[in-house]
Amino acid sequence: MASRINLVDSLAGMSACYHHPSQKSVANCKECGKGLCRDCYDSYGAGMGAGKALCFDCTEEMVKQNSAEIEWLKKQVKKERLWMIIGAIVGFFVGAGGGPAGMFFGLFIGASLGTIFNGFMEYGWLVGGVMIVISPIMSIVRFIKRINQIKQADEILESDARILQEMRDYFAYTLTMEKNAGFDLATLASQGSELYGNIYANAVMSKGESAAQAELRQGAVQIAANGEIIRSFDRRIAQRAA
Ligand SMILES: [Zn+2]
Ligand SMILES: [Zn+2]
Repeated sequence: MASRINLVDSLAGMSACYHHPSQKSVANCKECGKGLCRDCYDSYGAGMGAGKALCFDCTEEMVKQNSAEIEWLKKQVKKERLWMIIGAIVGFFVGAGGGPAGMFFGLFIGASLGTIFNGFMEYGWLVGGVMIVISPIMSIVRFIKRINQIKQADEILESDARILQEMRDYFAYTLTMEKNAGFDLATLASQGSELYGNIYANAVMSKGESAAQAELRQGAVQIAANGEIIRSFDRRIAQRAA
């Protein structure tokens, strides 16, 4: 008898699903090694490509990294805009000595000082010199690019948060269904019941189990892809992540 309990204990310790302790694990998280059951693996863990599973905690980590990178980007954009305004004001007054045309050019060159500075720092004197001439256009281009990036970044934050919530709801769904074997889903998801408002339960009811699973399976891939998008915004983000 004692040996049987030991066997069960060691099985649970070695190969139980991290989220469903009553289930045996079929794969381990490629980041932290936590066990994932067949259901978890099929539903969201397999999202990282053939045989590569990722647990919920590591997926959540990925979202945290995305958020941190977006926060950095937003701070950077704020700084850039501040320097544009300061540069434009200084340029306007410096250029004032040259009359209305001087004011006009001073304003634009001043607002573009950040771009010119970047040109010198990144590409050297020759390119930096050329940039003085084209910097006003480059600054406008970057300004517009940043507006789009911030918009995309906000969409990513929303998408990441929704995916995480759907994963959490998936755990709640599976545990509730296991606990309430025999009850039908519509009852469990009705107002006031455990699964009311559960995103995954609603997906199962409207699209069916396999479609809901397929959608969930894309979640980790989507979060990873979102990270790639953020890092493509500014090469300094990729350098920080490396
Ligand atoms: Zn993990
Ligand atoms: Zn599981």
